[in-house]
Amino acid sequence: MARIGLFGGTFNPVHHGHIAAAHAALDALSLDRLLFIPSGHPPLKGNDGLVAGHHRAEMLRLAIGDNPRLGVCTLEIEREGPSYTVDTVRQIASVMQHGTEMIFLLGSDCAERLPRWKGIDELRALAKIAIIARCGDDLGHLPAELLRVPMAPVAVSSTMVRAALTNATNVNHWIAAPVMAYLCAHDLYAKASCHA
Ligand code: ATP
Repeated sequence: MARIGLFGGTFNPVHHGHIAAAHAALDALSLDRLLFIPSGHPPLKGNDGLVAGHHRAEMLRLAIGDNPRLGVCTLEIEREGPSYTVDTVRQIASVMQHGTEMIFLLGSDCAERLPRWKGIDELRALAKIAIIARCGDDLGHLPAELLRVPMAPVAVSSTMVRAALTNATNVNHWIAAPVMAYLCAHDLYAKASCHA
């Protein structure tokens, strides 16, 4: 039976923490494949400073490179309205080969809100849910039905990357070179660092 990881987020922009988390999930959960799912209209975050979905998807493709176990699913950026995970996972389930096991991934900073997600019972019926230990968080207290993904902490967030870009600070240790080249070429975020 194939095991597919589904990793949602805004990825505004994708950074090394996201990629390290994806590799940790591939290993810890023995996934055949993992799909990043950039959110179109994140219901819990607002759209302030969010660059267009097609740009975020392209930066994800650049960060992934030619790794065949990683991919980008664009369903949420193509759909109108708030991007509810349950709608996306239902849509993916309808086209997956029968028997494919889906595991939805999220970082430990998002785990607390999970019980309040729209359609959480349906989501749980469609997919297992795994929590990634962001920043070395202890996952011991989580309910038993949640899977766990340990990972070595990678101390970066997209907020930090955006702030550093505004301040003309070097972000080469946080994002992949092709992602940096792309965001400069397309004038995304504050581009002070592009000329630093
Ligand atoms: P922002 O700073 O804009 O809020 P972010 O860096 O937290 O963004 P998101 O796109 O919101 O990134 O994250 C998508 C998913 O990746 C979330 O489940 C989040 O917990 C996880 N994630 C983000 N950064 C890391 C990291 N450094 N290590 C592990 N997981 C991470």
